[in-house]
Amino acid sequence: MARRALVIGGSLGGLAAHLLHRAGWHAVVFERNEEALTGRGVGLGTHPQLIATLRRAGIAFDATMGITVAKVVCLDRNGKSMVEQPTARTMSAWSRLYRALRDALPAQDYRLGKKLRRIEQDAASVTAIFEDGTSERGDLLVGADGIRSTVRAQFLPQAQPVYAGYVAWRAVLDEARAPREAHRDIFELYTFCLPEGEQLLGYPVPGRDGDTVPGRRRYNIVWYRPVDSSALDEIYTDTSGQLHSGGIAPSLIRNEVIARVKADAEALLAPQLAEIFLRSEPFFQPIFDFESPALAFGRVALTGDAAFVVGPHVGAGATKAAIDARAGEDVAAGLVRFESVQLPFGRDMVALSRQQGAYLSAQLKPVAQRQGGELRRDVEALRHAHGTRSDQIGDIVAARGLEAYF
Ligand SMILES: Cc1cc2nc3c(=O)[nH]c(=O)nc-3n(C[C@H](O)[C@H](O)[C@H](O)COP(=O)(O)OP(=O)(O)OC[C@H]3O[C@@H](n4cnc5c(N)ncnc54)[C@H](O)[C@@H]3O)c2cc1C
Repeated sequence: MARRALVIGGSLGGLAAHLLHRAGWHAVVFERNEEALTGRGVGLGTHPQLIATLRRAGIAFDATMGITVAKVVCLDRNGKSMVEQPTARTMSAWSRLYRALRDALPAQDYRLGKKLRRIEQDAASVTAIFEDGTSERGDLLVGADGIRSTVRAQFLPQAQPVYAGYVAWRAVLDEARAPREAHRDIFELYTFCLPEGEQLLGYPVPGRDGDTVPGRRRYNIVWYRPVDSSALDEIYTDTSGQLHSGGIAPSLIRNEVIARVKADAEALLAPQLAEIFLRSEPFFQPIFDFESPALAFGRVALTGDAAFVVGPHVGAGATKAAIDARAGEDVAAGLVRFESVQLPFGRDMVALSRQQGAYLSAQLKPVAQRQGGELRRDVEALRHAHGTRSDQIGDIVAARGLEAYF
């Protein structure tokens, strides 16, 4: 009989289930949400390792999975292009990848409404105990339950994500609603804009139903803005005065907070980007940094964001989760080996991300205390980072002995 793997968390890290199936396991995913996560999420960058892992999981990464952008530009405040260079990036959407992964799993192996409470294990098996009072037994448990992982909290209660000092304002707009000039100038491009101390990027992503047909796509904006902890509490507070420090639902963000960020968009951004932003319903996500000191605990392993949070600048959260899943396919070699390979790999990915986010993280420090990359963020450095990002991930994969997987 196939050995049984319990995968906690049904987002992209749950990709582990597909690869465990391939390796002869019976893997079942347990997701705390009561309803399928379809329709959530926004844009997501891809890298070759993510595409290769999806293909290995039986998901054809064809033209319907993403939109390929051929040019990167950087616009100044007046909307004039300061830098242009060819690129070849495929931009997808979280919901598009999620749907493909979810559809490819047998329905009985993806269980909703299953919130993990705690884990018990002994020499023979591991048991997941859920909030609804039920429990499931297996030979292996994979913690793919994200940045606030319940699995990790049981084994490493002290290990907590650290706020990086800035938030990402996110906005998506249906292609049909994009202003004509903005559509003509930037819709098909990967576009940067660099207000002082901040950074914005915009690119096209698949539409609401995952559609990549022109006219039915969406435009995605990510705008990084430094926010100190007290100002973060202020934007985390809803109209009734309640503070949502674990994360505020977009619908609860106060109108005045939205009005303020829209006024800043008009004042600071290239007009093409500002017009798209003004027509959207923006929301924000604080950026965290996290590095787990351990990944294996007996029959339990951590993957994806539960293990390491790779900041957004590398655009590789999903790619890193995929690489973890690919390495986890070799679980027969033992979790100690998994940990010995994935720990240094995860640390390297976090280091790359910190290096690329250093300028933004440092904005709350006095200038005299900033050093190296914290001081400088010019267009040339950004252009170079964009052009070499996939290669840098490839270099880390090779340096950590994971190249044979791809
Ligand atoms: C709804 C959603 C939308 C997202 N949208 C984007 C996006 O647009 N762009 C982007 O770059 N990244 C997005 N992400 C994050 C992205 O998926 C991750 O950064 C990366 O892919 C690693 O994924 P992960 O599966 O390790 O963690 P996550 O994606 O955070 O998934 C963790 C999963 O575990 C579940 N979970 C948590 N605790 C428990 C528990 N106790 N019991 C059972 N289940 C539990 C959560 O509900 C969640 O589904 C999104 C994540 C989610 C959940």
